Amino acid sequence: MRHMNLQRSDLLRVVVVGGGIGGAELVRNAATKEGLELVLVEPKDRIECQALYPDYLGGRIEMEEMTAPLDPFCKKMNAVHLKDRALRIDFADKRVTCEKNDLDYDILVLAPGAVQNYFGVKGAEKAFSINTLEDTVEARRFVEKKRPKKIAIIGSGPTGIETACFLAEDSNCTIYVIEMMNRLLPTLSKNASILMEKILTGKGVEVLTKKKVDSIRDGGVTFADESSLDCEMAIWTAGIRPAPLIENLGLPKKNGWLLCDQYLRVQGYEDVFAIGDCAWIEIGGKLATKTGMEAEIQAKHTARNLARVAKGTDLKPYSIRASTESPVALITTGCGCAVGIYGDLCVPIPKRIIYTFKSWIDKSFVKRFK
Ligand SMILES: Cc1cc2nc3c(=O)[nH]c(=O)nc-3n(C[C@H](O)[C@H](O)[C@H](O)COP(=O)(O)OP(=O)(O)OC[C@H]3O[C@@H](n4cnc5c(N)ncnc54)[C@H](O)[C@@H]3O)c2cc1C
Repeated sequence: MRHMNLQRSDLLRVVVVGGGIGGAELVRNAATKEGLELVLVEPKDRIECQALYPDYLGGRIEMEEMTAPLDPFCKKMNAVHLKDRALRIDFADKRVTCEKNDLDYDILVLAPGAVQNYFGVKGAEKAFSINTLEDTVEARRFVEKKRPKKIAIIGSGPTGIETACFLAEDSNCTIYVIEMMNRLLPTLSKNASILMEKILTGKGVEVLTKKKVDSIRDGGVTFADESSLDCEMAIWTAGIRPAPLIENLGLPKKNGWLLCDQYLRVQGYEDVFAIGDCAWIEIGGKLATKTGMEAEIQAKHTARNLARVAKGTDLKPYSIRASTESPVALITTGCGCAVGIYGDLCVPIPKRIIYTFKSWIDKSFVKRFK
């Protein structure tokens, strides 16, 4: 173990764990504030925009458009990129232990995100997934090389739906969307479910609701009701759980996610903030969604609060923008179109302009770091 020999200065050292949407956006915003020294702990070389993974799988975009290199970005921000993975945190000594280094912090920001949840389903971990860049690259290679004729997509959240729509553009392939609940997009409104079922069936996608997957094997999926479906490719998109680092930390949690106060600090820990997917943020009866949009706004707010910590002034409470009670979603429906959903409202017909807007938001996010 090497002790990270960063010279301590008079500046407040902020260590950010995780350089995804939340962590990288926090560094970008905090870099403009005075009195902060920024260290980003992230094992990957690049910032990735996960919202573009389905487009990549569908062959619509290439790697450069959905990722940006971290080192030049951190250099430009006058921040240190420590290419390492945090393993443990000593909150009493204010020290982060990583695989190759350990380092001290004044303030810690936890933003390690989430990983795919397989809910203990037998064989699910061997199915394809598009939760990480590596998984998405592997899935695209398989589609392009093997040209599967039958693909089962497990999970009908926005990711599962977008994946189905892109893959359905190949008319030689039959796509099945499998959902355990009684409707598609179960975390969005009933109107959204009805609309999406119409869109998918219109594209020839087979929608199977109330179908709980019991196991996945090479060549097919078996359901809890003992029926089965043969397919050449199964893609698991059903659910996330906290990053392993979070699971190992003895901090206050709700359903495994880090429990935050109204300032986005972990409850009871004045010098530890948590943002993005890893955090459980419930303020004023609203619960924050686990979306890139929320992670980005939380990062901006936290950067402003870090400047207040450096100045010794009072923190400002956070106000949730995208809550679970009125979620906002732009969902790509293939063929260059997308639909917009806000709470109970949805645009009834997929539109090119909505896809152009969604694509612009996602690609401009990446461009900011270049
Ligand atoms: C396929 C897909 C499509 C999506 N589409 C949309 C969309 O259209 N709109 C939307 O708003 N949201 C979308 N999301 C959700 C959005 O991507 C996430 O909510 C967002 O990325 C959360 O940001 P984050 O910073 O919390 O986590 P992430 O962006 O996942 O970043 C976490 C980072 O932490 C790093 N890390 C993990 N553990 C450690 C450790 N121990 N030490 C150091 N670093 C660590 C990881 O390498 C990663 O880089 C999508 C997600 C997926 C998977």
